[in-house]
Amino acid sequence: MAKIQMTTPLVEMDGDEMTRILWQMIKDELLSPYIDLKTEYYDLGLENRNATDDQVTIDSANATLKYGVAVKCATITPNGARMKEYNLKEMWKSPNGTIRAVLDGTVFRSPILVKGIVPYVKNWTKPITIARHAYGDVYKNTEIKVPGAGRAELVFTSEDGTETRELIHNFDGAGILQGIHNTEKSIKSFARACFAYAVDTRQDLWFSTKDTISKKYDHTFKDIFQEIYDGEYKTKFEELGIEYFYTLIDDAVARVIRSEGGFIWACKNYDGDVMSDMVATAYGDLSMMTSVLVSPSGVYEYEAAHGTVQRHYYKHLKGEETSTNSIATIFAWSGALKKRGELDGNTELADFADKLERACIKTVEDGKMTKSLSLISTCENPVILNSLEFIQAIRGTLEELM
Ligand code: NAP
Ligand code: MG
Repeated sequence: MAKIQMTTPLVEMDGDEMTRILWQMIKDELLSPYIDLKTEYYDLGLENRNATDDQVTIDSANATLKYGVAVKCATITPNGARMKEYNLKEMWKSPNGTIRAVLDGTVFRSPILVKGIVPYVKNWTKPITIARHAYGDVYKNTEIKVPGAGRAELVFTSEDGTETRELIHNFDGAGILQGIHNTEKSIKSFARACFAYAVDTRQDLWFSTKDTISKKYDHTFKDIFQEIYDGEYKTKFEELGIEYFYTLIDDAVARVIRSEGGFIWACKNYDGDVMSDMVATAYGDLSMMTSVLVSPSGVYEYEAAHGTVQRHYYKHLKGEETSTNSIATIFAWSGALKKRGELDGNTELADFADKLERACIKTVEDGKMTKSLSLISTCENPVILNSLEFIQAIRGTLEELM
């Protein structure tokens, strides 16, 4: 059979540790035999980030802006221990943070559902996608530990020198203070990315804040979403029969638990941080969560939600067998190939990506899986495979489907 041709390259961002090992296996076993793979390759492995003074990360993000679709392997975010381990020149920033800043994007995380892995919330039969606003609020805060009695004020000095003051609190003893901010520009980008992704995936969009308590801060989020919906997306949503739904965060939590899933839930930065861990855990496993960064201009970067699976990598280095789940990384590839196919009108490529996803799901549903999946699966006698065997089993299923 002739290999599937590609017209535009994918931006390929290689990464670290166990996921880097899986990355190569996925290409060798599941992609290269069937596709004449065209990628513009960037090595975001920590060694090369260090060697290039992290320029490679910025280059890969700019290439994503140029071509429109990227696929990324998990990467190490350096900390003190990594500084020593890799003898780093600097504690390089999180690549995801750097890429997100260049793309001005929003991250959408969704679970991959398979029969036999039952969500803790029984009525969740469809995926819930969390969209987390990834700028500002408590993640860029300024804090003061108040030592004793005194007056705290919020002061804004405009460029012409005019001051606006609001009393925060008259302290009669020690306490704490926190200053947070956000920008209209960032909230607008967030809103547009959410509406665009809802249209793209034909799902309802929910948004929630605490606007009843925070009448200026949170209310501004609510107003900006409504303004952009009314002005830019209402007609499109009506055409597609999808809905934009705003409610208070506490009401949203109750409704989400009672729902059957199948929608996007846009959250402010902190809510998204907390709720994405809750949702991922309730659906079963971090290794079954996909993640896509979408820019307001419609640029896509696909990846797995989990990290580099360091503990498995050290076992691998010692020559021990690993049973690492590659599904989320395979879905990063299939997501990117499908999007590339759509943009280029390359149906053969998009169809292949669909089949690859079905092959992953069917393999697990047929009882062949990795160790961590077997622990949460209701399948009676699962066959537990090692990292490579699992990918090869998916290849077997894929061949049947083709
Ligand atoms: P992790 O790589 O997500 O792994 C944490 C644990 O979750 C693993 O030890 C493993 O549990 C389980 N797990 C995660 N993915 C799995 C998979 N595909 N198959 C089987 N089990 C899986 O998080 P981490 O160990 O805290 O972080 C390692 C590195 O990843 C860090 O340097 C961090 O900076 C980086 N990171 C990168 C990204 C990204 O690039 N997007 C995201 C998060 C973290 P068991 O060990 O119990 O089997
Ligand atoms: Mg978190």
